[in-house]
Amino acid sequence: MTVKDEFEFISKIKPKEIFQDNLLVGIGDDAAIYRPAERMEQVACLDTMVEGIHFLKGLSSPYEIGYKALAINISDIAAMGGIPKYYLISIAIPNSWSEADLYGIYDGLNDIAAHFRIDLIGGDTVGTEDKLVISVTVLGEVEQSKLNLRSNAEPGDVVFTTGFLGDSAAGLSILLNENDKGNTEDETYLINRHKLPSPQVMTGRLITKLDRASLNDISDGLASELYEIAEASNVSIKIDESRIPISSALLNFKESPYEYALYGGEDFELVGTTSRDSWNILKRECEKCSIQITQIGEVVSGEAKVLLTRENETVLLEKSGYNHFKK
Ligand code: ADP
Ligand code: MG
Repeated sequence: MTVKDEFEFISKIKPKEIFQDNLLVGIGDDAAIYRPAERMEQVACLDTMVEGIHFLKGLSSPYEIGYKALAINISDIAAMGGIPKYYLISIAIPNSWSEADLYGIYDGLNDIAAHFRIDLIGGDTVGTEDKLVISVTVLGEVEQSKLNLRSNAEPGDVVFTTGFLGDSAAGLSILLNENDKGNTEDETYLINRHKLPSPQVMTGRLITKLDRASLNDISDGLASELYEIAEASNVSIKIDESRIPISSALLNFKESPYEYALYGGEDFELVGTTSRDSWNILKRECEKCSIQITQIGEVVSGEAKVLLTRENETVLLEKSGYNHFKK
């Protein structure tokens, strides 16, 4: 590990500002202590990013790596309709990473943490021989009996999604293309959508106020997330390809935008279902907050599957992979 003095390192990364009033003990003792809020459930998640698999040092800056590692976890809390509150970091550091790189990672973590007012309350720092590994745990809370489970979809529900889909995968393909490193405004937009995701916490909170909703965040592509809801709820989901929200940047991009939206992944937008009445409420609330949310289909009774209508033809969507249109 390149960190010369672990105590100095920890004191440097220790946040200067604490956002949460219920934090009793933060970094500096054997473990953190916080007081859970009354009448709330605790919600927890963890995701790990491995150098060479989830990011490449040459393509993402340390700042972007830190930012994304926390963003993808906040997105999981958003998909449960929760409020993110605290996070912990485990970082395994190889010699190829300098101390300045590490502070860069923490700069990215700090920026998105400050945006959502969540506190770094602990972690672990170890050395490793090969690749950098960063694991992030986020803790949050959500109102009791307001759980937006994947198993909550019912026939008659509206299927909706936030934002634009497919941007992140297109951004990655630009980054991986030697000849094309994001020179235009559209390319820069797509690359930023890949590197700096925007977890949809506010939308998750609006959805939690509804009577019932199923919800997922889009980490593996729209098709895969819809299958998870269809299988957990034992329903069929029908979506209309022309309703999938595609950004103008992705439309201008050379390849098929719908392939990216359906199978690309890492959008970290939300996809879910709710009753028609609740959808009308949600649409109004999102409008008031300038949040983009789009109906893309409906839930029908039947076996667990996802159907896609494209130009008057309905096809069965496959769960993953490319070129997956099948009669
Ligand atoms: P212990 O030996 O009790 O595990 P450590 O020396 O590992 O203590 O950690 C001291 C304090 O610093 C603890 O509060 C721990 O949670 C925190 N900490 C250690 N490494 C990190 C890190 N990479 N990021 C954030 N906090 C950390
Ligand atoms: Mg320790």
